[in-house]
Amino acid sequence: MGLLEGKNALVFGLANDKSIAWGITQAFHREGANLGISYAGEMLERRVKPLAEKVGCQWVEECDVTKDDQIAATAEKAAQHFGKIDVLVHSIAFAGKDELSKPYYQTSRDGFKNALDISVFSFVALTNAFLPIMNPGGSIMCLTYYGSVKVAPNYNVMGVAKAALESSTRYLAFDLGPQKIRVNAISAGPIRTLAAAGVGGFRDMYKHFADAAPLRENVTIDDVGNAAVFLASDLSARITGEVLYVDSGFNTVGVQISPKEEKSE
Ligand code: NAD
Repeated sequence: MGLLEGKNALVFGLANDKSIAWGITQAFHREGANLGISYAGEMLERRVKPLAEKVGCQWVEECDVTKDDQIAATAEKAAQHFGKIDVLVHSIAFAGKDELSKPYYQTSRDGFKNALDISVFSFVALTNAFLPIMNPGGSIMCLTYYGSVKVAPNYNVMGVAKAALESSTRYLAFDLGPQKIRVNAISAGPIRTLAAAGVGGFRDMYKHFADAAPLRENVTIDDVGNAAVFLASDLSARITGEVLYVDSGFNTVGVQISPKEEKSE
């Protein structure tokens, strides 16, 4: 029997088969969850619908999280289709190209607002909208990155947004704890996705990552999917307000040495 058998799980943020949301969706499917998928923008529809079919997902809804009416309508449709849900995944982020390439101090007011609105407030707004249909024992999660606690060149306003997202995770976990609903974040190592491609210098950082991480391996969307299964399942019943690192141990290393230096010792 799968770890998520009998659970209704909604995943927001599927763009294509490289998306972290796709790794999570496939892992949830493998573990027996009944799935719903949400995406943004008509452009993505032709990529998302065939993926949804692959995992037998009947509920596929467009939702731009900057629009309150779309969030409300999506929650209403979920209530009609599923009745109650057990798992809600937020795998959404956005910042403009300028914000991810120029120095942080040049961040524009609009760029800042937009990044924080889409990447952080939407997590709060989705939680609020879906709370009335969450079962006790439910699990809510979002995706974050280490650039929230340490400087990652060019990550800029997104690092600030991820810090706010991780803080929001703790505040939401505190609010929802009495209702036995858990809220956690997964901090994933760098993965080649559409969103990552927007971060200046990502390719170099990606290449360097496996040399520096204790496990000497890059992270895949399947790795993140498996961690999401744990957080969605009853195995993590007493874990809330946490940031779970899925990064081959990268965040635990304070001083990095290159592989060459390592060999010469
Ligand atoms: P992705 O591009 O596949 O996913 C980002 C998603 O955000 C897309 O589906 C996009 O449509 C959605 N989105 C953007 N604006 C939206 C809006 N207004 N309304 C609704 N959805 C909107 O890239 P990804 O890397 O899979 O990103 C998923 C999450 O994982 C993000 O929160 C990202 O910051 C986080 N993350 C990514 C990495 C990485 O290296 N790729 C590492 C750690 C965390």
